[in-house]
Amino acid sequence: MVELKSRAEIERMRVTGRFVADVLSELRERAQVGVNLLDLEKHVRRRIQERGATSCYWDYAPSFGRGPFRNTICLSVNDAVLHGLPFDYTLRDGDVLSMDLAVEIDGWVADSAVTVIVGSASEEDRRLVCATEEALAAAIAVAVPGNRIGDISAAIAGVARSYGYPINTEFGGHGLGRTMHEDPHVPNNGKPGRGFRLVPGLTLALEPWFAATTDRIFTDPDGWTLRSADGSRTAHSEHTIAVTEDGPTVLTLAA
Ligand code: MG
Ligand code: MG
Repeated sequence: MVELKSRAEIERMRVTGRFVADVLSELRERAQVGVNLLDLEKHVRRRIQERGATSCYWDYAPSFGRGPFRNTICLSVNDAVLHGLPFDYTLRDGDVLSMDLAVEIDGWVADSAVTVIVGSASEEDRRLVCATEEALAAAIAVAVPGNRIGDISAAIAGVARSYGYPINTEFGGHGLGRTMHEDPHVPNNGKPGRGFRLVPGLTLALEPWFAATTDRIFTDPDGWTLRSADGSRTAHSEHTIAVTEDGPTVLTLAA
């Protein structure tokens, strides 16, 4: 069931979204060569406690993971793309790090992810990260009343194709609001003009992610981390947005 949000509720999600964006921009600064993933996790945990927020990941136990998750952020390095379990790993020059954060404040959730390149970036990795950011922007641009979920999906896939990246449709975007995952599902590939019609009050997490040379993934022995099947590098970009009469509005922007 799709739950539409009032303007006031969307503004409450924006409060959470600002916090998520602020923490992600702090992590952007912190993710340097020589920094351990567990230190990034600790920083997020402290910020969440100080803010009186709740992590959506802590104790999360979906059917696909080896639950419960006991961390406050997903950190996915290089061939890891989604649900990366923070572990004792020191970042190296050229690592591609995706950071995905979902938090609840006063009953309202926001979800966002960024991918950064640690130290010096290769041209190939920069291109991959750029593609997910461009796909996210394209997805947001078509999130207007009257369009359909398929228009968002097609916009994401169109950018992937233009870069020559394969597309996986198992994991994609989703509705959210009172909880992290609500209807509708937003696949990262689809047909324009198909699917659920976008209406004002619909809040979505849009999250293109690509692996450089495969559309297949597998679960790491840690039971959570999803990796590209061929070991190629991956990137992921995500924002929480609301569809409004005035067009799309991004809720996960820094203050
Ligand atoms: Mg996320
Ligand atoms: Mg999400």
